[in-house]
Amino acid sequence: MDLNAKLAILADAAKYDASCASSGGNRRDSTEGRGIGSNEGMGICHSYAPDGRCISLLKILLTNYCRYDCLYCVNRASSDVPRARFTIDEVVRLTLDFYRRNCIEGLFLSSGIIRSPDYTMEQVVEVARRLREEHDFRGYIHLKTIPDAAPELLERAGRYADRLSINIELPTESSLGALAPEKDVQAIKRSMARLRVHIDDAKAQAREAAQGQVISLPKARAGRAAPAPFAAAGQSTQMIVGADATDDATILATSSQLYGAYRLKRVYYSAFSPIPDSAAALPLKPPPLQREHRLYQADWLMRFYGFAADEIASPRTGGMLRLEIDPKLAWALAHPERFPVDLNRAPREMLLRVPGLGVKAVDRLLLARRVRRVRADDLRRLNVPLRKVLPFTTADGHRPAPTPDLRRLACAQPSSAAAQGSLF
Ligand code: SF4
Repeated sequence: MDLNAKLAILADAAKYDASCASSGGNRRDSTEGRGIGSNEGMGICHSYAPDGRCISLLKILLTNYCRYDCLYCVNRASSDVPRARFTIDEVVRLTLDFYRRNCIEGLFLSSGIIRSPDYTMEQVVEVARRLREEHDFRGYIHLKTIPDAAPELLERAGRYADRLSINIELPTESSLGALAPEKDVQAIKRSMARLRVHIDDAKAQAREAAQGQVISLPKARAGRAAPAPFAAAGQSTQMIVGADATDDATILATSSQLYGAYRLKRVYYSAFSPIPDSAAALPLKPPPLQREHRLYQADWLMRFYGFAADEIASPRTGGMLRLEIDPKLAWALAHPERFPVDLNRAPREMLLRVPGLGVKAVDRLLLARRVRRVRADDLRRLNVPLRKVLPFTTADGHRPAPTPDLRRLACAQPSSAAAQGSLF
């Protein structure tokens, strides 16, 4: 099989991993002989570097052969899809070629499990090692790690990769047992914990080195040496949504636990897409794409707005996020006793709970408050959606109408008719 054919199969097979997804663009390609390049089919995706830059990654699998049979996965052992496998040299060459041609700024590499988790992980790490050590590759590398692989291999992966990820796959142990029986949630969590220790250690050493307190032991006599980095962009995971009956409250509780216990940079939510010849245990239809979107919004509220998972969705309120309005607005409408919020007196934590006020706007409001009292007109300069903010706040010269129904009218959002796009 030539390299292009392998690339077509193994880039296509990698698209199911949402943890560095690019989506929402119009399809373009140059197969009719006009133009140059393509934004689909060959595995270039976009991700964000730690400094916020949007970067293009070559997103591929080393192989889509897999000895596991996770029911939700198109690459499972029993799936009837064309198979291919890159050699280590081929991935290295492809990455360097694309990089030199300025098509990519990095590599996202994952793999099906061949022979054993250790063997597969060794191959993935070897790609990164050759790129870094033999070719002095300075681009971004994201490696998908295999939780059952030996700890030394995960440790080596972290030396070469900017980001590591281990997919939690499903929100509960019982759903993982039902849909991916060869996977072990305890092994996944153990590996996340190991990565967290390595990442924390590397950060602590870097801090100490910056303060001039650390002398690298082997080179002690030569002076201070920079500590070895370890996955400087942290670790992330992905959870499939809608492949089982787990509700949003449970999904958010799992995410909250993962953020707290393993200090993950991100949990990615990937709406389940039905796959060909799928098992009877899987739904025939994908969940509404809006559900994935609301989960991302809820995740944001937990990470940056001080919300606990059970404040956003809990079994008491049916366990599901409302699809027609965003979760912050839903919380505000469910807690009329907390509103209106006085923009001149409320603490930062409460301002962050006002629908329509983002972190930047709140910080600017707090700065403005030091100098003089805030008026409703000042909100215009903050560029916040007044229709959303005003019904929930008071300021000099402004008091909202008292009835919650008015707030509902003022804030009603058109429900989205967006549907999960077919991946086939
Ligand atoms: S181990 Fe990974 S590649 Fe293999 S079937 Fe499961 S999800 Fe798919």
